[in-house]
Amino acid sequence: MGGGKLIIFAAPSGSGKTTIVEYLLKQEELNLAFSVSATSRPRRGKEKHGVNYYFITINEFKRHIKNDDFLEWEEVYRDNFYGTLKTEVERLWAEGKNVIFDIDVAGGLRIKRKYPNKTLAVFVKPPSVDELKIRLKKRSTESDDKINMRIAKASVELATAPQFDKVIKNYDLDTALKEAYELVANFVGVERK
Ligand code: 5GP
Repeated sequence: MGGGKLIIFAAPSGSGKTTIVEYLLKQEELNLAFSVSATSRPRRGKEKHGVNYYFITINEFKRHIKNDDFLEWEEVYRDNFYGTLKTEVERLWAEGKNVIFDIDVAGGLRIKRKYPNKTLAVFVKPPSVDELKIRLKKRSTESDDKINMRIAKASVELATAPQFDKVIKNYDLDTALKEAYELVANFVGVERK
């Protein structure tokens, strides 16, 4: 695989990384395109196949694993598989884009290890685990059980922050967006706004 740069935003669920990634995608000068992951989890709310995720069955997912189709994949939550298809990144590189990922911590670090020089790996830190709980409840897209599962995982993920190139603290969204912009603009070689 050749092509452009890779930008990873990894964080515990509810940290606000999706908001940050969506903001960056709107900044045309950064020339970013979103890597749509494959997942075996069910579709939520207004999510669209091919836009938010490629929603596939567990069997299809396992077939892709066998065929070595993934750049990385994880069973992020039990029976919920998520992965980055090599074809997705190749497609976006062929369009001349820098690729931006919204993936979990383990997957993010795996990509960084595969492409150390062309990858910027950013960890988004939530103010606290309590605040994370409040945000996930507000979002109210999942059951209490699922929320608790996400919280338990978040504590483990927070410990991996030092392995990333940069850490952004998302205490105040506007500040976090500015910081994220600066980091990415520097990395892809765009003059600051
Ligand atoms: P959600 O179910 O909330 O959409 O995502 C759950 C977690 O899986 C999030 O942390 C999300 O970033 C992560 N995730 C999404 N796509 C991928 C992927 O392709 N690979 C990995 N390793 N994690 C992913």
